[in-house]
Amino acid sequence: MLRPSKIEITEVGPRDGLQAESYFVPTKEKIAMVNNLIDAGIPRIEFSSFVSPRAVPQLADVTDVLAGLNRSTDTILAALVPNARGAIRACEAGVDEIIVFMSASESHNLKNVNRTVDESLAGFYDVAKIAGDAGIPVQGVIATALGCPFEGNVPVEQLSYIAKQYRELGFIGLGLGDTTGMATPPVVQKAVRHLQDTVPELPIGLHFHNTRGIGLVNVLVGLDEGVAKYDASFGGMGECPFAPKATGNICTEDLVYLMHELGIETGIDLTKLIDVAKHVERVMGRELPGQLMKAGPRLELHSMSDVATASG
Ligand code: ZN
Repeated sequence: MLRPSKIEITEVGPRDGLQAESYFVPTKEKIAMVNNLIDAGIPRIEFSSFVSPRAVPQLADVTDVLAGLNRSTDTILAALVPNARGAIRACEAGVDEIIVFMSASESHNLKNVNRTVDESLAGFYDVAKIAGDAGIPVQGVIATALGCPFEGNVPVEQLSYIAKQYRELGFIGLGLGDTTGMATPPVVQKAVRHLQDTVPELPIGLHFHNTRGIGLVNVLVGLDEGVAKYDASFGGMGECPFAPKATGNICTEDLVYLMHELGIETGIDLTKLIDVAKHVERVMGRELPGQLMKAGPRLELHSMSDVATASG
């Protein structure tokens, strides 16, 4: 399989990153973050979630955030939706795309959304109907697809079982969430190949967390399998509050840098994106894990007089 020459990156920081914060980022700051991402040329942004404000108070302002966003570009503004009530709100607010999610494993799904796998799937029929009537496309995510913190390895047949139902529901894409960073190259390869064989109609997107330091390595494996859609988070923010020891997503600037060095197009302005990450870091008031924002691209050269002599 040839590596794709162009990929689509979805920025998930405003949702995956901010939902895990202990304090409420002001609405105007969220709007500025997302508008800066749009300006940097990010093609798709998971800008927030229509979950219950009681469950995730950090994202209770989702409708106000959307109202403040620049809709004049081609950037797709997608929102996570947990159930029919969320789908109705998302359609009324006018999102470009709806994302539904469930965990591959029963235990994580019960812990995360308090439903069995089949109860989640049944609920998605209502979401698909509501979105279909509104003409809004839906993508289906499978969380813990590449490893469950409670059950360990996830059988690939469980992934295709869920993916086939997503296909029947008319979803336009399939996201594989490595929610707790358990993916490794062989795990990614096996899952992607199985799904490409069994459910080839659904384009796959990969969502890696860098919990064990091999998030970008897993991206390379995905590229080699022909996968052209990746999620990432500004500054490497993001963690799952329901997964033990889950750390941030792979970092968007680091991913874009790697892609451009490989000659793979993203359509994203890396310089502007680094500025976005630095701005987010200032808003959050703490150092974020992203590395490129600290070191700069490799050919951003330094004056010799600025650098102390080092040995080693
Ligand atoms: Zn995630």
